Formats: sequence, structure tokens, C-alpha cells
Amino acid sequence: MGFWDGETCEYCGGKIVEKRVTLHRKIKKKYVIVEDVPAGVCSECGTRYYAANVLETVEANIRGGRAKARREIVVPVYSA
Ligand SMILES: [Zn+2]
Repeated sequence: MGFWDGETCEYCGGKIVEKRVTLHRKIKKKYVIVEDVPAGVCSECGTRYYAANVLETVEANIRGGRAKARREIVVPVYSA
């Protein structure tokens, strides 16, 4: 039994399946990428749902320095 079993999308009514997704967050004025975040993803429209405590825990660990970056990448920035 997964966390999202039986849940349906609030937008389209599609079935929600659990997947690991990659998140982009801005923490302490730095953009960070968080991989392997468990999320519920609508199988119809792709809307992502997160358990509230997942995001809070991830962010708190990064802010508090308890999470160590696996690797660093350089992100190109463009302007229009
Ligand atoms: Zn949907």
C-alpha cells in the first residue's frame, strides 16, 4: 500500500501514482535541485502532489546543513 493509493487528481480525476521526482527549490537565495523526492503524480495530467512533511523535511535539512549535496552543477542563466 502506497501513500497515494486510491487518491485521485483534484483537477482531472485521474489516478495518482507514486513516483520519484526532481524538485527545484530556492533556499537561502540559492537554487538547489533535490532528486528522488517521493511524490504523487497524476497519471492523466501529470500534476504533482507532495506530502506536506516531505517538502518541509527536505527544506529543513538543507537549510540546517544536515543534508549534504551529492554533487554540484553549473546552471547557465540567460536573459531575454
Ligand atoms: Zn490530473
